[in-house]
Amino acid sequence: MEYSILAESLNKMESTTKRLELTQHLVELFEKTPHDVISKIVYLIQGKLRPDFEGIELGVAEKLAIRAISKSSGIPIKKIEDEYRKGGDLGHASTVILEQKTQTTFLVEDITVERVYDTLFKIAKLGGTRSQDMKMKYISSLLNDATPLEASYILKILLGTLRLGIAENTVMDALAIAFSGNKENRKKLQYAYNVSSDLGKVAETIATKGLEGIEEFEIILFNPIRPMLADRVKSEEEAIEKMGNEFAAEYKLDGERVQLHIEGDKVELFSRSLERIESYYPDIIEKIPKNIQADNIILEAEAVAINENTGEFLPFQELMHRRRKYKIEKAVTEYPITVNFFDILYCNGKSCIDLSYKERREKLEKHVKEDEFAKYIPMKIVKNQSEIEDFMENSINAGSEGLMLKMLDKPYQAGSRGSHWLKLKREYRNELGDSLDLVVIGGFFGKGRRTGNYGTLLLATYDEDEDTFPSICKVGTGFSDESLDQLYQILHPKVSIKKNPRIISDMEADVWFEPELVIEVVASEITLSPIHKAAFNEIRKDAGLALRFPKFTGKIRVEKAAEDASTNEEVITLYKGQKKVAHDKNLM
Ligand code: AMP
Repeated sequence: MEYSILAESLNKMESTTKRLELTQHLVELFEKTPHDVISKIVYLIQGKLRPDFEGIELGVAEKLAIRAISKSSGIPIKKIEDEYRKGGDLGHASTVILEQKTQTTFLVEDITVERVYDTLFKIAKLGGTRSQDMKMKYISSLLNDATPLEASYILKILLGTLRLGIAENTVMDALAIAFSGNKENRKKLQYAYNVSSDLGKVAETIATKGLEGIEEFEIILFNPIRPMLADRVKSEEEAIEKMGNEFAAEYKLDGERVQLHIEGDKVELFSRSLERIESYYPDIIEKIPKNIQADNIILEAEAVAINENTGEFLPFQELMHRRRKYKIEKAVTEYPITVNFFDILYCNGKSCIDLSYKERREKLEKHVKEDEFAKYIPMKIVKNQSEIEDFMENSINAGSEGLMLKMLDKPYQAGSRGSHWLKLKREYRNELGDSLDLVVIGGFFGKGRRTGNYGTLLLATYDEDEDTFPSICKVGTGFSDESLDQLYQILHPKVSIKKNPRIISDMEADVWFEPELVIEVVASEITLSPIHKAAFNEIRKDAGLALRFPKFTGKIRVEKAAEDASTNEEVITLYKGQKKVAHDKNLM
């Protein structure tokens, strides 16, 4: 497939922010794509080479790219750097520069998508001392044969600056339309994506085998499954209303969710956002295989830091000491953990996700042996409010956050948040003393002591229906100097030139960020707002919801993806809940 087709399509997509138009461009692109290239196209439009969980990073530095442009075009480095400084985007600068190229080159070889992809793949795989030279050779040979527009999109992918803001849902909409003629089939693709976490593979399957192929999608060992999520409830009464008269209550531990894939001694660990995390947990890799009584298995657990003397669970922050590249052995001894299993998704070659909760829990206890390090998450079948309250007390006393409530007869719904699992945190009860996990979408430069940092951040909820991030508040309190520095380090690389189309806000932020980072915030109240966009038009026409007196709690939720942030629904529930409390108080 000619690379120019992809480059032109990327160019069109980059100049629109409307989801419908993006979908239409994608449909047209997919229709022009041969079936054996479709997975590559799907990865490339997301600026990737493979699904995230394979951890393949391109990692080319700007300096190297500038040298490569210079080498292939004969234009001096200085001139390229000057052009780059004007707009801040090297891909764009390269188009401008190459259009005025002084050195004539003959287009020797047509650039195909396959060639670009294979070359990028080789670059990603290169390591070692001579790698920089080799990388440069590969890049300049591609650029040599590329038109200015093609070169621009090769560079953007290489540098990780291709930011079209295409959500996975939009890609699936377009695949459903292009290959089945019906957008409604998105749901079937969604299932396939939820069990495989690999959009390229979903694309290839629908292109080559149609919907039948999609319906046969199965869980594959060492291929992570998108996790099931929970809705929140504020009280035991509400839980009983939603769950009926008998359900499971489990401790809600405050650690890191880990998905374990195990066959013999081979163990792979995935975080909640499906990144590989074996390097932080050498103790899990070493010890857990001994506890498994099955040929192969996929399990879910919460890894929690503990006080070795008392056995008490310690908060999430303790565990974060393990997130380091060096001296991990030391961190493992200093911050011991237990692994607390709560689900089984696959066992002896078969999926378990369609089994009921009850059957899965039995299977889990059959195939995993408990010991000091590996535990089942404490669970109790509860029938009424006092039993929940009692179990909640135990849970809080053990150092956990509250309870997870789970329907006994329901399957595991990969990748979705629903009412089959509910979370009841201690502090959710009564008024909004509650914390929210919000996405950082924009920043405002600080003054005085905060000069050089982002003094105030613009935050958003996640709108599940629209797959967007509407603003809910600005937050400028609760930051220590240290946390301001830390946030700057994390946020600076996420600055984007164009506001990501999934961000919904009328604010004029100094900088826009790619919506990726999630932080925890508390507030005194939720109010109607003419300027913020969360739950817009939901409670009142032309108004959204906003947080009053928001404050950063100090918790950066690194384990959460933007789509795991508090949703509009959750904020609406809190808003209505606070009104109800006020109303009840007035009646008293
Ligand atoms: P939240 O992060 O507040 O949305 O709560 C969901 C998270 O709680 C999951 O992603 C898990 O990391 C964690 N968790 C703790 N205990 C459990 C449990 N018993 N079942 C499921 N998830 C749990």
